[in-house]
Amino acid sequence: MDLTDGPAEAGFRAEVRDFIKEHGSKFPKGGGWSESGEEPGAESVEDRMKAWREAIVAKGWIAPHWPKEYGGAGLSAKEQFILNEEFAENGLSNVGGFGVMMIGPTLMVHGTDEQKQEHLTKILHGERNWAQGWSEPGAGSDLASLQTRAIRDGDEYVVNGQKIWTSGAHRADWIYMLARTDPDAPKHRGISLLMFDMKSPGVSVRPLINMADGHAFNEVFFEDVRVPVKNRLGEENRGWYVGMTLTDFERSGIGNAVGTQRRLRLLLEDAQELPEQETSNARSKSGTWRLAFADRWIEADIAKLFSYLNMSLQDRNMIPNHEASMSKLYTTELNQRIAATTLKLFGLYGQMWDRNRDEALKGQAAGSYLGAVSSTIAGGTSEIQRNIIATRGLGLPRG
Ligand SMILES: Cc1cc2nc3c(=O)[nH]c(=O)nc-3n(C[C@H](O)[C@H](O)[C@H](O)COP(=O)(O)OP(=O)(O)OC[C@H]3O[C@@H](n4cnc5c(N)ncnc54)[C@H](O)[C@@H]3O)c2cc1C
Repeated sequence: MDLTDGPAEAGFRAEVRDFIKEHGSKFPKGGGWSESGEEPGAESVEDRMKAWREAIVAKGWIAPHWPKEYGGAGLSAKEQFILNEEFAENGLSNVGGFGVMMIGPTLMVHGTDEQKQEHLTKILHGERNWAQGWSEPGAGSDLASLQTRAIRDGDEYVVNGQKIWTSGAHRADWIYMLARTDPDAPKHRGISLLMFDMKSPGVSVRPLINMADGHAFNEVFFEDVRVPVKNRLGEENRGWYVGMTLTDFERSGIGNAVGTQRRLRLLLEDAQELPEQETSNARSKSGTWRLAFADRWIEADIAKLFSYLNMSLQDRNMIPNHEASMSKLYTTELNQRIAATTLKLFGLYGQMWDRNRDEALKGQAAGSYLGAVSSTIAGGTSEIQRNIIATRGLGLPRG
């Protein structure tokens, strides 16, 4: 595959660069520090995030992959890739969240006209933020063993149970979630996908603070929550298949790899700027550290090739499957190696904990190191990705 831009791609890239020149400064500095799940916190950060979001909405790029008929940008896979690449290169991110990434496209495939009308425009304009209620204390990797129950009562379901690790539930307006509607059916078949307002009576949210001291995810409890049957997405007891429609896209990781190279460049700049005595044992000049950095650089290039692979599949209207798992596995494990390399380079200095400092890495190395741990768990653990690669990719028997 030719990785250079043709005239059309070059034109689109120039358009993205112009947009970034005009609006990129709106993106809050702290807002890009999402690996550790930082809460933006300060109001000005939230205001700036809103301004950034409005700029993307106005340009029509909030939902690059949505078809135009639903208000999306209808970009080709290559254009989406360029957009992600340029955003990542400049430390920016799209802020569509679960609404744009997950439930919106699922609604387009499985939703009724009424559901599409109710939700899609609000998602596009950022008026309805969503949480994803999949995992439970006893159901993560083996998600289909979930136990939250939804019992039909006339035109409503009555939901009881608990979700965990629910990202952004404390800020979400609505949740889409999987609940068991037929406890006697085989476990993948008795599940339905329900959507409801987080302010519904009986919903409560309890924060979970991660080890990087960020409040990103939560526990969510449901006690006799009444959900209209019309809020079910897809057929009753077919929710597993509805919910899995887009999981592979979540893993394809386009853009992450470019962000990884940017991180390395910033690290290199910082290492060169630092007075020698401030890095542990002057590691920036030592052979060991040079070798480690070269390894990370090569690995970042490989990660980029995985992104290109996924993009080229999407460009041919194929859905990346085990290829998405390879990219997710490799990029997230690489991020952990980069965080460890960074911490080693800066030694004691790297343990400073002040995420408001201006510099890209100083004061953030420790937070990044702790934050990077969760990336190999979220969206399916590394072991699960390896299982997918082994069985679906290599055709090995299931264990
Ligand atoms: C930052 C973050 C954000 C998240 N956000 C959300 C969210 O918004 N909504 C949501 O629903 N969930 C969310 N999750 C939860 C996430 O999807 C689960 O943590 C993940 O699927 C793993 O499930 P678990 O934590 O129950 O671990 P378990 O499934 O209990 O796994 C424990 C260990 O056993 C290993 N293991 C399990 N099964 C196998 C197997 N078959 N073969 C080999 N090894 C295996 C795992 O790899 C892991 O090391 C989030 C998690 C994180 C870290």
